[in-house]
Amino acid sequence: MYMTTSEIRKAFLEYFHSHGHEVVSSSSLVPHNDPTLLFTNAGMNQFKDVFLGKELRSYSRATTAQRCVRAGGKHNDLDNVGYTARHHTFFEMLGNFSFGDYFKKDAIHFAWGFLTGVLKLPAEKLTVTVYQSDDEAYDIWNKEIGVPAERIVRIGDNKGAPYASDNFWQMGDTGPCGPCSEIFYDHGADIWGGPPGSAEEDGDRFIEVWNIVFMQYNRTIDGEFHKLPRPSVDTGMGLERIAAVMQGVHSNYEIDLFKDLISKTAAVLSVTDLTNKSLRVIADHIRSCSFLIADGVLPSNEGRGYVLRRIIRRAVRHGRLLGAKDVFFYKLVAALADLMGDAYPELRTHKDLIEKTLKKEEEQFIRTLDRGLTLLNEQLEALGDSKTIPGDVVFKLYDTYGFPVDLTADVVRDAGYVIDLDGFNKEMDKQRARAKEASAFEVDYNSQLKIQSSTEFVGYSKLTEETEIE
Ligand code: ATP
Ligand code: MG
Ligand code: MG
Ligand code: MG
Repeated sequence: MYMTTSEIRKAFLEYFHSHGHEVVSSSSLVPHNDPTLLFTNAGMNQFKDVFLGKELRSYSRATTAQRCVRAGGKHNDLDNVGYTARHHTFFEMLGNFSFGDYFKKDAIHFAWGFLTGVLKLPAEKLTVTVYQSDDEAYDIWNKEIGVPAERIVRIGDNKGAPYASDNFWQMGDTGPCGPCSEIFYDHGADIWGGPPGSAEEDGDRFIEVWNIVFMQYNRTIDGEFHKLPRPSVDTGMGLERIAAVMQGVHSNYEIDLFKDLISKTAAVLSVTDLTNKSLRVIADHIRSCSFLIADGVLPSNEGRGYVLRRIIRRAVRHGRLLGAKDVFFYKLVAALADLMGDAYPELRTHKDLIEKTLKKEEEQFIRTLDRGLTLLNEQLEALGDSKTIPGDVVFKLYDTYGFPVDLTADVVRDAGYVIDLDGFNKEMDKQRARAKEASAFEVDYNSQLKIQSSTEFVGYSKLTEETEIE
């Protein structure tokens, strides 16, 4: 049964509403009052304090379509974009939540009811996982729902730590967490990949669509797990992933919304091959960048702003790969606002700001991008048989040409090169030490030293100004 992305979003919220859930609006991508979190990365973020028992709401069941960004921070998918069929930097997470109301049994029945009852997915296409020792969840799947044992996988602690496995969900290093049960859709034997828990699970045949987390603990900064006052439920289903299933396509990038966005991008860049990887990257990145700016993030050299800058620069570089001669990225904002403005009116309200910000950022970066790429190519030739880009080269690209480290890694990845991250970090440390020395001189009243240091300091800022990486 074909359903559009908007129809699925609506059907999901209606289904859970009809089961007593309050429909709550998506929160901002910039988490309120949560310094532990870079960006909103899951539907549960806005309910963190409710799970912790610190905040009480008038409802004990909620459902949302939450905008999320997973770039930087604990769940970082920036490097996956362009390489897998299922990852975005920005995506929408559909979720249902129980705050001390229902637990494992109802959560599993609700999810199954939506997938097989409302969406009418064939049960045999679905494989589920449970946390290794979670017999309760196993039995619900097996005995109540009737999923055969061969399609229930127990996922264990793969890193030796008590809760380090994939089936123990944590929003960050601290906060609410618990064992989870995930639902995978089998896209068919012609696609490489194996079921969850197998050696080929990283392939894109079995794609995880829904994660049901049984919130039981709060992890504190000392690494301790404390039982939550009331066991709760948090679930997350990627809207784009379930849309791919419902639209009979394998990749998220082939769904209705992305098809339109990609064809608009192709038109702006005069590209004819719509399956081109760089087009996908750009279409992905225009969403995260636009939504981040709409939520108040601006490009800068640190924190959230630097993540935004990294994404913009990555998009600009992929535009270059497709032959863009001039600034292009901001031209996609209008198309995005057309496609998603009904669900997210802020894209329309902030359209001008988003366009101006992206245009300025791109104009700055293209002044150094080509020179940086030339330098990188020269370095690749000089490397001979080695497949590692030395740290000082990565550093120079970063410092002089404004190449974020992940951008350099992305440029060379397809040719089989990796970057020496340790070496880069050493160069960064050296630079910090130099900066510290320079500032130490500033407060030193020895005039001779002061002159030396200020000369040196001007040198750095001049370099920065010239190359416009600030
Ligand atoms: P994966 O293993 O595929 O990276 P995940 O286990 O990291 O996914 P969860 O943290 O469990 O994902 O998030 C809940 C759901 O959100 C996933 O089941 C998936 O449908 C969706 N999702 C997660 N990350 C992304 C992403 N980067 N892009 C699109 N959808 C995503
Ligand atoms: Mg992931
Ligand atoms: Mg997963
Ligand atoms: Mg998961």
